[in-house]
Amino acid sequence: MKQGRISSIQSMGAVDGPGIRCVVFLQGCPLRCAYCHNPETWPIEGGEEMDLADLLTKIERLRPYLQQGGGVTVSGGEPLLQWEFVAELFSNLQDRGIHTALDTSGVGSLQGASEVLQHTNLVICDLKFCNEQDFRKQCHGDLRQVYDFLALTAERGVPLWIRQVIVPGLNDTKESILSLKEQARQYPNLEQIELLPFRTLCATKYEALGIPFLLQGTRDCSEETIHRLEAWLTE
Ligand code: SF4
Repeated sequence: MKQGRISSIQSMGAVDGPGIRCVVFLQGCPLRCAYCHNPETWPIEGGEEMDLADLLTKIERLRPYLQQGGGVTVSGGEPLLQWEFVAELFSNLQDRGIHTALDTSGVGSLQGASEVLQHTNLVICDLKFCNEQDFRKQCHGDLRQVYDFLALTAERGVPLWIRQVIVPGLNDTKESILSLKEQARQYPNLEQIELLPFRTLCATKYEALGIPFLLQGTRDCSEETIHRLEAWLTE
């Protein structure tokens, strides 16, 4: 029976997919996004090892809540780092009639992603920036991997939500939003685009972990900014 490294479990989340959801935050991430809210998930050796069977038992206890239009979301960290565990978890959940959502940055093994997508009802992909330079500078990743992943979700016809965290001074411009819109429109499986406001609350986590917070001094993103940017998405 498979084991996964788990950072934390949120029994009843309401923002990571439709309905009430159990959100499983997996440990380990290959990216280092400057605005990351979960830096405690970065090292793969952190978190707690858990048997798949134990996790399924825990989820089963929540079934009455999850079955009313909700389900299970796997987030992180980057869940595709542990793709074998996620594929098996999702396969078991679907067999039990529970909706599965993958909240990912889209980086990692495309082969692994392909296995996971076979058992995924919804992909929520954080498309952090739409140009190579910013993605490399702010997240330390290769944007082509994300685009390859998104193309795979389209090929498989898995419903797709695209998200972007809006950070003042980094991507809160009309130009950035229009390029997000242009990119997202390419995917016929796209259902919605969500803009999420950057919050500085996470700075205390960095302090506690002794990790420099690169966005020190950046202000929170306001709701007004989100509404202004959303208007450009829909116009
Ligand atoms: S992909 Fe997510 S968990 Fe990983 S560094 Fe970026 S924001 Fe943090």
